[in-house]
Amino acid sequence: MGRVFLLAAWLLACAVLHHGACAAATGPVSAIAGSQKIACKLLSLTHPDHTFFEGSDNYKYETQTQYWSSTAYNTPACVFVPQNAQQLSFAVTTLTLTSTKFAVRSGGHMPVQGYNSIGSSGVLLSNSNLSTLALSHDHATVSVGPAYRWRDVYSYLQPYNLTAVGGRVGHVGVAGLLLGGGISFHSSQYGFAADNVVAYEAVLSSGLIVVAKADNAYSDLYWALKGGGNSFAIVTRFDLRTVPFYDSLTNSPTVFENFTSLKTVADQYAFGALATYISAVDALQPNGLRQDFRVASFMVNREGLSTVHDTFFGDANSQLADIAGLTASITFQPVTKGFIENGRSRGGSNPQGVDANNAPYFWIVQNLSWQNAGDDDTVRAFAKATIAKIEGTITSHGVAGGYLYMNDAGDGQPVFQSYPSANLRRLKDIRTKYDPFRIYTNLLVGGWKVLDA
Ligand SMILES: Cc1cc2nc3c(=O)[nH]c(=O)nc-3n(C[C@H](O)[C@H](O)[C@H](O)COP(=O)(O)OP(=O)(O)OC[C@H]3O[C@@H](n4cnc5c(N)ncnc54)[C@H](O)[C@@H]3O)c2cc1C
Repeated sequence: MGRVFLLAAWLLACAVLHHGACAAATGPVSAIAGSQKIACKLLSLTHPDHTFFEGSDNYKYETQTQYWSSTAYNTPACVFVPQNAQQLSFAVTTLTLTSTKFAVRSGGHMPVQGYNSIGSSGVLLSNSNLSTLALSHDHATVSVGPAYRWRDVYSYLQPYNLTAVGGRVGHVGVAGLLLGGGISFHSSQYGFAADNVVAYEAVLSSGLIVVAKADNAYSDLYWALKGGGNSFAIVTRFDLRTVPFYDSLTNSPTVFENFTSLKTVADQYAFGALATYISAVDALQPNGLRQDFRVASFMVNREGLSTVHDTFFGDANSQLADIAGLTASITFQPVTKGFIENGRSRGGSNPQGVDANNAPYFWIVQNLSWQNAGDDDTVRAFAKATIAKIEGTITSHGVAGGYLYMNDAGDGQPVFQSYPSANLRRLKDIRTKYDPFRIYTNLLVGGWKVLDA
C-alpha cells in the first residue's frame, strides 16, 4: 500500500515538475526550481519522524549545532535524517525523481561555504542517525556509521586496548575525513586513515545499496572512495582496521629528547589515552566561529619553512590587525616516506598517488578564524592572496610538493588536478560508471567534484 502511494506520488511530482514528460532520464540530471517543496512533502509523508522543518529544535540542531564553522549555517527547505541505508536510498531516489538539489553532512567540519550545507532551494541529508558502531568478533575491524565523530570511535575502542587510524581532533566527523584521505597521529605507521578502510557500505545514485571491498565486484568503487570525495556514492558504514592502542617498546621514547630536554614554559607532556587527549584538544577548536582553510605542500626544506612562516605571519600582522576575534595560524603537517609507503602496503594504491620519492613533505594548512560576517570578504581575500604568495615562494625555492590535500583545501583550490593524471582519468571513468546521470555531481551540491577537474 505504502509503495503504491509512493509510486503515485512520484509520478504526480514528476508530471508536475517535468510538465508531463516523465520518460526515464537519458542524460545528466539538473535541478528543477521549486521541486524541493515536493521532495520535502514526500519525505515528511513517508518518514514524518525523520523529516524536519524550520522552526523545530531538530532543524536548528541539524543546520547549526552540528557545524564547526558558522559560515556553513544554512536554511534548507527541510532536513532528512535517515536511520539506515534503506531510508537514505529512498531519499536519494525521491530527490532524483523530483530533480531536487541536496547537500550531505556528516561531522560538519568542512569549512568551505556550500560544501556541506544548502539553502532553501534544496534538502539537507544529515548522517546524524547512521549510527552503526560495532567491533568484529575477532576485534580486527570496527564498523562505524557516519553519525560519529572520531572521539566516539576512540572511546568505544579504548576498553579493548585498541584504536583506529582517524582524526587528531575529537569532534571531526568520520565520513568527510575518510573520503578525503585522513591524516592521523598514526599515519607514519599506517598511512592515510582511508588506507585502513576494508569495506564501505554505500548508496549509489541508482538507490542500490552496495558493499565495496578491495576484492569484490565493487573494487573500483572501493579504490575511488579512498580519496575521491563525494562524487561516487553516499557512504553509510565504514569498516576500519583496528590498531593496537599503545605499541611503543617504551613509555619514554628517546626520539622526543630534543623536545623534552628544552626548558619549558608550559608542560603538558604526559602518558595518557588518545580518547582523553582528543577531548582536551576539542576545547581548543570551538564551534561557531567563521573559518577558512587553504593548503599548499612542499618538500621539507629549512629555508622554505622559514619563508612560508614569515610570509604568512608578516602579512597577517600587517593586514588583519583590525579583524575582530581573529586567530591566524599555519599548520606544518609532516608527511614522511613511511606515511606514503606504509599506507600503500596497508591498503593498496589510492587515488591521491602521492610521490614517495620526494618525501618528506610539509602539507601546510593556513587557518583563519574570525567573528563577524562583515569581515568575510576581507579575510577570504587575504587567505587567497597569501596562499598564492606562499605557493610562489615554494616554487621559487624549487621545493613545490604538488599535492593539495582535499580535507584542508579552500574553495576553488585544484585538488583533483594535483592527483596523478592517470588516477584522475580512472576516477572520472569510475564516476561515469556508477553515476551516469550525474546525480552526485549535479544534484548533490558542494565538495570537490572529479568531473570539474
Ligand atoms: C578542527 C578540525 C580538525 C581537523 N583535523 C583533521 C585531522 O586531524 N586529519 C585530517 O585529515 N583532517 C582534519 N580536518 C579536516 C577534516 O578531515 C575535513 O574537514 C573533513 O571533511 C571533515 O569531515 P566531516 O565529516 O566532519 O565533514 P562534513 O563537513 O560533514 O563533510 C565533508 C564533505 O564530505 C561529504 N560527506 C559527508 N558525509 C558523507 C557521506 N556519508 N557520504 C558521502 N559524502 C559525505 C560532504 O558532502 C562534504 O562535502 C580537521 C578539520 C577541522 C575543522
